[in-house]
Amino acid sequence: MATDSFDDAIAGLSKLISEKGHLGDVAAAKIKQITSELKLASSGRFDPNERIQSGFNYFKTEKYEKDPELYGQLAKGQSPKFMVFACSDSRVCPSHILDFQPGEAFVVRNIANMVPPFDQTKYSGVGAAIEYAVLHLKVENIVVIGHSCCGGIKGLMSIPEDGTTASEFIENWVQICAPAKNKIKSECSDLSFTEQCTNCEKEAVNVSLGNLLTYPFVRDTLVKKTLALKGAHYDFVDGTFELWDLDFKISGSVSV
Ligand SMILES: [Zn+2]
Repeated sequence: MATDSFDDAIAGLSKLISEKGHLGDVAAAKIKQITSELKLASSGRFDPNERIQSGFNYFKTEKYEKDPELYGQLAKGQSPKFMVFACSDSRVCPSHILDFQPGEAFVVRNIANMVPPFDQTKYSGVGAAIEYAVLHLKVENIVVIGHSCCGGIKGLMSIPEDGTTASEFIENWVQICAPAKNKIKSECSDLSFTEQCTNCEKEAVNVSLGNLLTYPFVRDTLVKKTLALKGAHYDFVDGTFELWDLDFKISGSVSV
């Protein structure tokens, strides 16, 4: 329909030009305007409902209906081996980059993939997720995944010395990993700001791993050796993925 209107409009205006030569410039300008407007309409403006519906249709026919065994099993319950902390960044979905299938990973995503320390009022949302994953789902691994070009880490590294903040929530949130920032600022002052941020993306993961130790049920399961803590960094510029185990020495401020 939009294409028809577009063609009709072009045809009508072309006729006008040929019949009334002296209107050429005006008509040409009009054609240009209408062309761009109609092109926008005919090329299809983004329709979020259509995108969501077609995405689900694809999933249902190509995945859900093709694996009744898996989805039948998942209908009864979940038993993921992993709890994953990943950034909310749209480029770092752990199910995509690690090919996790439904049921494999219990995921928390937030700005800069941070794990705050145990605090029943300030950070109850994250605490509830960790408690559920560790005590009820009995996940065997908690993986904190940082990533390249992380805006949250850049924000943390950009907070001025005097601590003044301009945002309602963001800076306050990312200061959870202030120890990482302090370490990088003092140990890597010779590096460029971008390189410092990359280092901080990894060091912040270590601070989060340390913060996980402030949850008593995490400590208990670590002692029983039924849980492992892992850090990771995904670089979407180079297409690489680093994985490491909790290193008590790196996260220094933590005593167990
Ligand atoms: Zn990020």
